[in-house]
Amino acid sequence: MGITSHKATSKFLLLVICAGVFGWLFDILLLSITCALFGWSVSQLIQFRRLRDWLEQELETDPPDAKGEWGDIFDHLYRIRKIRRNRESELLSVIERFQQFSAALNDAVVIIDQHNNMQWWNLAAERLLGFQNESDLGKPLFNMMRDPNFIRYYQRGNYQEPLLQPSPHDGEIELQYYITEFGQSEKLLVARDITDLMRLEQTRQDFVANASHELRTPLTVIRGYLETFLDQGGLIKPVERAMQQMQQQSDRMQSLVEDLLLLSRLDSTEVAMDEMPVDVSAIVLSVAGSAEQVAEGKKHTINIEIAENIGMMGREKELHSAFSNLVYNAIRYTPDGGTIDIRWTCDANGSCFSVTDNGPGISSIHIDRLTERFYRVDDDRSLHTGGSGLGLAIVKNVLHRHQGTLEIDSTVGVGSCFRCVFPLETLVEL
Ligand code: ADP
Repeated sequence: MGITSHKATSKFLLLVICAGVFGWLFDILLLSITCALFGWSVSQLIQFRRLRDWLEQELETDPPDAKGEWGDIFDHLYRIRKIRRNRESELLSVIERFQQFSAALNDAVVIIDQHNNMQWWNLAAERLLGFQNESDLGKPLFNMMRDPNFIRYYQRGNYQEPLLQPSPHDGEIELQYYITEFGQSEKLLVARDITDLMRLEQTRQDFVANASHELRTPLTVIRGYLETFLDQGGLIKPVERAMQQMQQQSDRMQSLVEDLLLLSRLDSTEVAMDEMPVDVSAIVLSVAGSAEQVAEGKKHTINIEIAENIGMMGREKELHSAFSNLVYNAIRYTPDGGTIDIRWTCDANGSCFSVTDNGPGISSIHIDRLTERFYRVDDDRSLHTGGSGLGLAIVKNVLHRHQGTLEIDSTVGVGSCFRCVFPLETLVEL
């Protein structure tokens, strides 16, 4: 462009000089230069017009023919337009690919801006969440997702666990919501259809609940007869021993059935709005009282520390069963003469129910799996102590329903500490 502008300047100067010489020769200097400048301006205007007309046309059209500096300008602009055209078509094909990919997704995907307005969503979001094309764009998310549970989850800002919730558009569709933050407080909401999975899970839960329920009556009859025979006495020694073992095993079976029923009740009932202020110190005292009876003969020292007048919002029965599972485990696994500390404390972060023992302890390789159903560290030890293998699964489930978490510290040969930690907002003063 530098050479072109030099050439153009030289041409212009040459034109002015020629017009000047011509005018001077014929004594019409002013007229000659004016005419030359006028002619030059008209020719430039014509080229400008051609340029404007060309620029207004479609990108594909060839540039107008021109010589000299205007030819160079047209060629240069043509090259720029061509590069732009290629970039645009590349971008279009990327967008097209992205649209195809997002339309092929079975999961609903929604992009939400920092003001919680809906920026974009895919086809599945229209099907699963009932969003409508164009008309809902830019509207607040809560216009579409009005469920208080969803709003609470969204506003809490803790998205580690997904939310299970029926679709706002069709109550028959069960959805699992995941939220991820990105950019400047923007959010990506993904909703996965898990209706089939939930149905399967429901069938499994129903089966376990029904089977456990059906086992209850025959088991009660068997236990009743065994108790009667053993109470009557007069049995020969080998038969008496066999009967005692049968009684022990039927007791285990009974506690297994009860735990299975409790778990399926916990699984199948919603975390409903039936939370009430619970007097946790009363639970702790009652659990500790029955623990002393269970531990009879083992000569344990049981220490109790209670934060008075501090309770929590929740369901008393569930909390009782979670806390008693931890205390009974400590009693069962701690050898004779051991010490068990039961504490209910609270501080600025929340509250904590903990059970510490100086029993055998648990190796760190087992800790992460302890709350799995039927997971046992040592089968022999558990069989001996009569555990169902479901105790800690029940604890975890109950805590989950009370926004709590289970923390386990344990050292082999030193002892274990199980802590149920609840957030501050669950605390109530009694
Ligand atoms: P179980 O009915 O077998 O006790 P749990 O789910 O209550 O089942 O506990 C899982 C496993 O964790 C137990 O089998 C036991 O090995 C271990 N465990 C639980 N509590 C204690 C404890 N206080 N001390 C040592 N081991 C424990």
